[in-house]
Amino acid sequence: MNNNMLYKYVKGALIAAFIVVVLAGCSSSSQSTAAQQEETQQPILIEGPMPIEIEKLREKLDNVEKETSGTFEFYKGTIDDYPVILAKTGKGMENTAAATAVAIERYNPIAIINQGTSGGHDPALHVFDIVLGKRTVNIGSLKTGQREDGEGIAPKEWKPMDLMASEGSAGEDPDAENIRYYEGNPELLAAAKAVKDQYTKGKVVEGTIGSADVWNNEVDRIQWFHEKYGTSVEEMESASAAQIAKAYEVPFLAIRILSNNKTNGGEYNPNTAAANQGYVLEVVKQYISTRSSGK
Ligand code: SAH
Repeated sequence: MNNNMLYKYVKGALIAAFIVVVLAGCSSSSQSTAAQQEETQQPILIEGPMPIEIEKLREKLDNVEKETSGTFEFYKGTIDDYPVILAKTGKGMENTAAATAVAIERYNPIAIINQGTSGGHDPALHVFDIVLGKRTVNIGSLKTGQREDGEGIAPKEWKPMDLMASEGSAGEDPDAENIRYYEGNPELLAAAKAVKDQYTKGKVVEGTIGSADVWNNEVDRIQWFHEKYGTSVEEMESASAAQIAKAYEVPFLAIRILSNNKTNGGEYNPNTAAANQGYVLEVVKQYISTRSSGK
């Protein structure tokens, strides 16, 4: 090899090395922005109690991975390229509270939607109508009247009990005899209202969602809650999720479809669970689009 050939060889090798370095730099910088974006985008958490209350949404998630904790199932995926966690909480207040706390600790959600079926307390609402939880309230948190041995029970005398009123005894504290409402987040409510015309199987209204580990079939008792608490519907989860969301200051909204309404003869229809998920999907897409456009 003469000097001239050696010079050309070294020059060629240096140019090739330079190109490799530049290309590697480009791809690693684009990779790191995608990873950073994924890390900085906090997911939306959507919760449902029973398999029929999450299955339709699970089908709509892209890039799904399943994770579990105890009996709770978390489906990590994306909707419109935005990260979403779909949680199957199981039924009832305890499952829902625990699953919500686990999900907040694990996934740091930007917002939480608790959704599923419910029973009507308002005779103006029918099976397939949807209630947006402007407020949620625990209707199982009650203090009974003072009655001695043999004096019987009188549920209409029972008073609401606010377990969050103080750290002292709720049984002794008259300040605890209040109804504790959890407010639905205005931004989530706005997203839900913006797409309400897309739901055609019933009407979409704002209302009060009452929760307890109780299925009330006594119409007089249902009316008592409706009058005293202003409940539109009852179910077994939303208020517990709202309480935990509030403890961590995470924006929250409950979206509940009527699957039954004892006050107007509305028979239980399990197909409502899928209809609600169809609507919730539109709400989530709307919320994602308003967030990404910075509105
Ligand atoms: N209806 C089913 C079981 C539903 S169990 C059956 O009979 O097998 C209760 C679940 O339904 C809870 O997740 C609760 O949120 C919801 N739900 C629907 N309507 C309700 C009602 N009228 N009262 C209480 N929970 C209700």
